[in-house]
Amino acid sequence: MSYETTLTCLECGHANPVGRTQCEACGAWVPQTAEARSIAHGAESEAQASPLVEEELAEVATRPTGITVLAVLDLVGSGFSALALAALATSASLSGDFGGMALLYLLIAIGYGVLGWGMWTLRSWARIFHIVASAIGLLGFPVGTIINGVIIYYLTRPHVGLAFSAKR
Ligand SMILES: [Zn+2]
Repeated sequence: MSYETTLTCLECGHANPVGRTQCEACGAWVPQTAEARSIAHGAESEAQASPLVEEELAEVATRPTGITVLAVLDLVGSGFSALALAALATSASLSGDFGGMALLYLLIAIGYGVLGWGMWTLRSWARIFHIVASAIGLLGFPVGTIINGVIIYYLTRPHVGLAFSAKR
């Protein structure tokens, strides 16, 4: 961006800074070229976009790495449940306990699929959904308790909450 561009007054020859509509020296109207207008407009836009706003926009647009990892794990979990369901459906009759297991796998596949998609696209409900799911997972002592404790801690960090805070 050059600020040295000047507009020469047709009346007196004074070199006016870009953006002036009247000559500094004689007050005559200064002709505005298209280039001069765009330069002046660009300088204006630059001044209006404060660093804080840009920072907030970047924060909202960026998915934290941990969320990406959780979203992928959720989708992988959904895929494995779908595979387990398919295996069950092809190898056994869907009756009695098998029917119950099949339903469980189906619900897990759908639940984790929706959750993974929600996490990936930073839906605010997905964070709450995941915290609730992880709270249930805390019961799987000791491994589930540790893993889900870490996940809940991570999902309740302020910068993670901010990533989900955009209106979607
Ligand atoms: Zn002039």
